[in-house]
Amino acid sequence: MTKEPPKFIIKYTSLNDEKALLEQLVLKNPFFSTTSPKVLFKIDINKIDQYHWVIEIPPSAFKAVERLGFVYLGLGKHRLLEFVSIKHCKNCLEYGHTTKKCTNSGGRCIKCGDQKHTEPCSLRCFSCHKKNGSNDGSLELFKTDHRVASDRCPEYRKQERVARSRVYHGN
Ligand SMILES: [Zn+2]
Ligand SMILES: [Zn+2]
Ligand SMILES: [Zn+2]
Repeated sequence: MTKEPPKFIIKYTSLNDEKALLEQLVLKNPFFSTTSPKVLFKIDINKIDQYHWVIEIPPSAFKAVERLGFVYLGLGKHRLLEFVSIKHCKNCLEYGHTTKKCTNSGGRCIKCGDQKHTEPCSLRCFSCHKKNGSNDGSLELFKTDHRVASDRCPEYRKQERVARSRVYHGN
């Protein structure tokens, strides 16, 4: 299996233009003038003028970029973290595909995992509830009081490990 090059995410920038981002990266961070980063995409985080950016770097530069931890852009200092892409569907809440590719009709409530509804409900992780079996609850093995696809979910962390193992991190 060919592995993917590493990706990093630059958090909370005010730059919404790819060219400007690359320019600032190279200008303010000497490291990137010798390592050619590739800008992959921008994540709109629903805050005014704030964006995350995902970049790809050569595997040989992984350790050095990880060590940086921050980049300078404009007048600010921005966190730089490894980005692991996990396919999780916001429609049916399953892993392995994204909402755009979802073939399941209807969709599930992101909070409780039941079929979409309008009544108020309480938090119950769809993945963990499913793993516990549908025989309602008395023998719960996994805690379900967290959001699906969040850092607190063991299934999410497993998916993260699998996704991370597909990346080539250099020697
Ligand atoms: Zn789906
Ligand atoms: Zn619900
Ligand atoms: Zn869970």
